[in-house]
Amino acid sequence: MKALWLENNQLDLREVPEPARSGEALIRIRVAGICSTDLELVKGYYPFTGIPGHEFVGEVVAAEEQRWIGQRVVGDINITCGSCEQCLNGRPTHCENRTALGISKRDGTFAEFTTLPLSNLHLVPASVPDEMAVFTEPLAAALEIQQQVHVQPTDRVLVVGAGRLGQLIAQTLALTGCDLYVVARHVYQQKILVERGIKIITEEYIHPWRWDIVVEATGSPGGFSLARQAIRPRGTLVMKSTYKGEMSVNFSSIVVDEVNIVGSRCGPFEPALRLMERGQVDPSVLIAAEFRLGEALSAFERAAQPGVLKVLVTP
Ligand SMILES: [Zn+2]
Ligand SMILES: [Zn+2]
Repeated sequence: MKALWLENNQLDLREVPEPARSGEALIRIRVAGICSTDLELVKGYYPFTGIPGHEFVGEVVAAEEQRWIGQRVVGDINITCGSCEQCLNGRPTHCENRTALGISKRDGTFAEFTTLPLSNLHLVPASVPDEMAVFTEPLAAALEIQQQVHVQPTDRVLVVGAGRLGQLIAQTLALTGCDLYVVARHVYQQKILVERGIKIITEEYIHPWRWDIVVEATGSPGGFSLARQAIRPRGTLVMKSTYKGEMSVNFSSIVVDEVNIVGSRCGPFEPALRLMERGQVDPSVLIAAEFRLGEALSAFERAAQPGVLKVLVTP
């Protein structure tokens, strides 16, 4: 099959054998999305050799359980052992033996086919088109914030960053009824938010030490510093991005202000699918471009341009 291959910070298209893993479903990829993690893999922030890609919607073409065949599915990206201490205590996304689709020790979805255990799969409701379903994974990651933090209607909430993930975080936090503001750098990022009735704010109007919850979604030291200044004493700072290399932080001020810091990663798929089915969120407004798999190198170039939101790849 045709696949995008990453090796030594270099992407190329090549023919590879169709994947086969006993006990797993064979899935034909319908659409895959490029996420910031994929771009970071290419830059070599994490070691990975193989087929990248973890955001997808596909169709099951072979499985041990007949009822899955022909179904349109999305899939949890963490493949877990089910028997380690983390798994046994209800923390499967922290499985000590996990592999991650297109990120760690397992080929991903910029290819014609991929495989996943049936227990990772979720059926996509018929009313949710591929161009939405492909956002299930990042939308689930956005929802993880509400799994972790009690957002009260009276809370003043600031999201710093309106990129791929920041937009989805804003759409989902808006549903809580909190007093939400988003820092968006690019004009079209602002436009998407404003069209959905989400308020934007610029740096000079962010009153420091006044925000109950601040979500850092830029992955940049500047974004972190802005988020840190905004949070009120005993407020909650949600870290939704990874940072390349080391970052210097004044932890004394965090101790003095008794700030709660919450690291946040993968989230629940079923609520993400439900919100799209009900039309309560619409991630498809993020789509900047769609490319064929044969043009995947151009797709990655496009996705790496500053401020570009979601680029999709179809086999
Ligand atoms: Zn991702
Ligand atoms: Zn485990």
